[in-house]
Amino acid sequence: MMNSLAILGSTGSIGTQAIEVAEKHNLRVTALAANTRVDDLVQQARALHPELLCIADESRYPALKEAAAGLGCRLLAGMDGLCEIAQQKSADILLNSVVGMVGLLPTLKAIEAGKPLALANKETLVAGGALVMNAAAEKGVPIYPVDSEHSAIFQCLQGNKRAQLKKIILTASGGPFYGKTKDDLRHVTVADALNHPNWSMGNKITIDSATLMNKGLEFIEARWLFDLKPDEIEIVVHRQSVLHSAVVYQDESMIGQMGVPDMKIPIQYALCYPDRLPCPTKPLSLTDYGTLTFAKPDYDTFDCLTACIRASEMGGTAPVAANGANEAAVAAFLAEKIPFLRIGELVTQAIDAIPVTPLTCYEDVVKADHAAREFVAAHLEEASA
Ligand code: MG
Repeated sequence: MMNSLAILGSTGSIGTQAIEVAEKHNLRVTALAANTRVDDLVQQARALHPELLCIADESRYPALKEAAAGLGCRLLAGMDGLCEIAQQKSADILLNSVVGMVGLLPTLKAIEAGKPLALANKETLVAGGALVMNAAAEKGVPIYPVDSEHSAIFQCLQGNKRAQLKKIILTASGGPFYGKTKDDLRHVTVADALNHPNWSMGNKITIDSATLMNKGLEFIEARWLFDLKPDEIEIVVHRQSVLHSAVVYQDESMIGQMGVPDMKIPIQYALCYPDRLPCPTKPLSLTDYGTLTFAKPDYDTFDCLTACIRASEMGGTAPVAANGANEAAVAAFLAEKIPFLRIGELVTQAIDAIPVTPLTCYEDVVKADHAAREFVAAHLEEASA
């Protein structure tokens, strides 16, 4: 059992719920890092007394310095600050819940320092899966998935033989636009796309859920975490988000993990593994739900999902390009610079346009990521097909 944790992304949805779990189980919080929200960060620091406090956006450092005066925390900023927290000796585990590719380097630094990871930053594995998994295996560092689907799969693997696994069932809520056609989605607004039926999350991941990019990223994430081939993953749309994913063994037994859609359950499992402690959440009542439904995903409407699976099959830097293009395209959509369907087009076009190279070091990731972002910036203006 861990006694202390450091949190990257502490003011986000995962970070704040992790703090709730930490308080429930008396886990000491040794460091907090946020992207831009100085006031929320300082409020957390007042309650938790961490040793280190970091603001990732360096332009906000003067504001942090002023707001955190007298708190007794050492103040950090930027990527250097995130990486210092990743290697902090007094934390038993690092929760990495930042959004985007920016989470990769701190993940690699934590592994280098032999620090166990609770990983909520899926882009880390999408972009740098080969680097992260090789380094973790070499150092013997455990990675506990926080993403609800991957936590479910991880839970279903406990006590069984990995060699006897046949495939996994990765469930998807289908997002707010389930059942829609491309025609229906031409005029989707930012507000429409931010309205998710089951999960309350940050803006980036909510848009990724609406485009099904999130499921594409999770497909790639699952391949790395559990060493799976593409045909060993079946994506199933399950609107109620109660079955969080399942695994199928050679004997055709399917074992799933169920619970209310509340991230505190997978967060707690990652922080308290292998213990199953009381969790500050609601119990699941199957009879309240009554009916659970399952369907195939619509690969024709949701280009991002199709593009991610293709990028995963292409290998090398292709998933980096898909992720980088998506991060840039989502930012443009949120800024109302491109229509909703353009996100999927840009991701698809980026993986076709950017040459795939082998991925052997962090610089390979950065190069492919930049190329994808530049591609999107250069093609923003083009009209949607
Ligand atoms: Mg998920």
